[in-house]
Amino acid sequence: MAEPLLISASIGVSCFPDDGHELDKLLKHADIAMYEAKRAGRNCARFYLPAMNLALDTRVALESALRQALSSNALCLHYQPKVRLADGALVGTEALLRWWHPLHGQVSPDTFIPMAEDCGLVNALDAWVLEAACAQLASWREQGVAIQAVAVNVSPTRFQQDDVAAHVHSLLLRHGLSAGQITLEMTERLLLEHEPRTADQLNQLHAMGVRLSIDDFGTGYSSLSYLKRLPVSELKLDKSFVRDLETDADDRALSSAVIGIGRALGLAVVAEGVETEGQRRLLIEAGCEIAQGYFFARPQSAQDLQTWLKLR
Ligand code: C2E
Ligand code: MG
Ligand code: MG
Repeated sequence: MAEPLLISASIGVSCFPDDGHELDKLLKHADIAMYEAKRAGRNCARFYLPAMNLALDTRVALESALRQALSSNALCLHYQPKVRLADGALVGTEALLRWWHPLHGQVSPDTFIPMAEDCGLVNALDAWVLEAACAQLASWREQGVAIQAVAVNVSPTRFQQDDVAAHVHSLLLRHGLSAGQITLEMTERLLLEHEPRTADQLNQLHAMGVRLSIDDFGTGYSSLSYLKRLPVSELKLDKSFVRDLETDADDRALSSAVIGIGRALGLAVVAEGVETEGQRRLLIEAGCEIAQGYFFARPQSAQDLQTWLKLR
């Protein structure tokens, strides 16, 4: 039987004469409003507002600055330790992208990654991050620094290209790393897309020995069936469940449930955003073994991380 075809529309509206007297201007403003409707989650309508034009100008300027930053090596990586909750031992690091804008200062990845996804720059960014993280891991090895593993965030858009597994493979060879030293963190959004190409790439990566981790677990449209279909090694308990652990019984119940799912499926569970001793204790009681958070260490430059390691 034929699959039903579902169509939705994102609609932008501009009104004569307030939004323009000429057809060109009215269409341009309706187009800007339509992009706002898409950004608001699609399948809705937005009326044009002059502020949208301003927001668009700012975005265009930021996008071109980000392009410039990528081509002129003005980006850098910070690394946050992943530690074993029981004794604080370092089990790996997560590479987090940092962008210092000459006018705006530090721009948060929560702002520029979605922007890079929209303007088609995220694949180049993610490829750059992977290369830089592998080079750093190799450099730590050469200096005898005891950091054995790095996790890298990968946007779902990156998997629309077929070369993720081949790219990782070539980097491992070039830097003399083993596949088990690399974890790719992706969000549930990717796994819900049911793209055969994505599953194929994930299976290739898994066959090579690369670890696959589900970031921000529990905040997407959790359909647990993908945990059965796809070769996942790790779940990351989102920091929104960890933040109020000490005061909110619902968050304690949800965290325990996620940790239980992970353990039952033989997956590592990493708690994100641990800031207090109380959160650490509750996570240990719930059976969680690994965590990240300001309580242990903030994301920091490779050099600062080495100093942090020496001082412990
Ligand atoms: P994420 O992968 O879930 O990273 C964890 C975020 O939590 C990081 O924010 C980190 O700085 C922050 N964090 C760590 N410990 C604590 C804590 O104790 N308390 C609180 N409140 N926050 C904590 P950041 O660096 O701003 O990154 C935000 C998001 O941007 C990341 O979330 C990730 O989804 C994305 N991102 C970062 N780097 C990359 C990248 O290279 N590629 C892609 N595609 N996405 C990236
Ligand atoms: Mg992450
Ligand atoms: Mg996360």
